[in-house]
Amino acid sequence: MKKLIVLLLIIPNFLTAQVDFNDYFLNKTLRFDYTRAGNADTSYIFFEQIKEEPFWGGSKVNLIDKFNFGDYRIMLYDSTGTKLIYSRGYSTLFKEWIDTEEAKHISRSHYESVVMPFPKHKAVLKLQNRDKKNVFHTVFEYTIQPQSYFIVKDKYDKYSTEKLYGKKNAAVALDIVVLPEGYTETELPKFRKDVQRFIKYFFKVKPFKENNDKVNFWIVNAPSEESGTDIPGENIWKNTILNTHFYTFDTERYLTTRDVNTIRNLAAYVPYDQIYILVNTDKYGGGGIYNYYNLCTADNEYSEEVFTHEFGHAFAALADEYAYGYTDAEELYDMSVEPWQVNITNLVDFESKWKDLTDKAAPIPTPDTEEYCTKIGAFEGAGYVHKRIYRPVYDCNMRSNATKEFCPVCLRTVKAMLDFYSK
Ligand SMILES: [Zn+2]
Repeated sequence: MKKLIVLLLIIPNFLTAQVDFNDYFLNKTLRFDYTRAGNADTSYIFFEQIKEEPFWGGSKVNLIDKFNFGDYRIMLYDSTGTKLIYSRGYSTLFKEWIDTEEAKHISRSHYESVVMPFPKHKAVLKLQNRDKKNVFHTVFEYTIQPQSYFIVKDKYDKYSTEKLYGKKNAAVALDIVVLPEGYTETELPKFRKDVQRFIKYFFKVKPFKENNDKVNFWIVNAPSEESGTDIPGENIWKNTILNTHFYTFDTERYLTTRDVNTIRNLAAYVPYDQIYILVNTDKYGGGGIYNYYNLCTADNEYSEEVFTHEFGHAFAALADEYAYGYTDAEELYDMSVEPWQVNITNLVDFESKWKDLTDKAAPIPTPDTEEYCTKIGAFEGAGYVHKRIYRPVYDCNMRSNATKEFCPVCLRTVKAMLDFYSK
């Protein structure tokens, strides 16, 4: 028994033991771009390019991901291929697309991109996919030769940049770069003003409110030819720098872009951990995908609530706590294992989720009645599904625009993530 306890204490440390940044990395970014192509049944990865970018915005202490979130993961090993020196979970638009009807009939490709600190020596990059049982598998492997002259070294001097908020060095702060979308040259002053307004919104919400010294906001002044964004359902098409559009997967409010290459090219002007695309329209909508990107519109009456909601997705991998489109959980989830998102559960292993935070008086599952509307329990209806997927509280910013606040379960994760990025 004693042996077992010792082992349990050692294993988690071993898995998340951090490495010394200066032993393995230079203070800039290596970006690896590829295309992911396939359909509902199968997918493949095709190498596109490697780029060297001027800054590293991430932590120099927390190099190994300890969260185990995301549908995909990058694992970077040293020259021997055995010592893990950097890892990060993430999700992409392709992963959402494969759950659509279209993916049952045709194959499509999506451009994707991952970043890591620039290795000093030869290193081995593995791209991994999570399967339905929550096990990761390597699907692509690439040996990085840092001295190779095929690593693209483009200049980043076309647009001006500005640090709009924050005093800390990028290594010890959460760096958010806000990119302008659908702002013409003459509208760039509006962009700057809009971002200042959103920074105020951001710091009204916990845990950012009481940790406002841990965050930097940057902007890159890249204008679009035309104002606004594409609205396919209304046959409105605009020539904009990041090629965003509403009606993603035919959902009107779902605002995304497939132009990941341009997004990364603009973000690379400054050090960053998170990319936020601010879209110059008053239409309701947005999007947020874990360690991929955030989008929000500038002038809608709910823009304030949407801004933090999408950030919950992209920064802390939080699930939507509402039901939408699906009745039966089996359509989206393997009901023999817990979904990996921290703020939804199918009660298969509730201890691994927020059981420690639940109100002792609340039965699990928790009835949707007035008696429990302020309690932490397990309320049915979440993660796009009406039945057998549960959320922590009656309402949370990940469920509706009626509240600006994260529920205690979401808050705990956002706080942990903020600490991870600001050390
Ligand atoms: Zn929540």
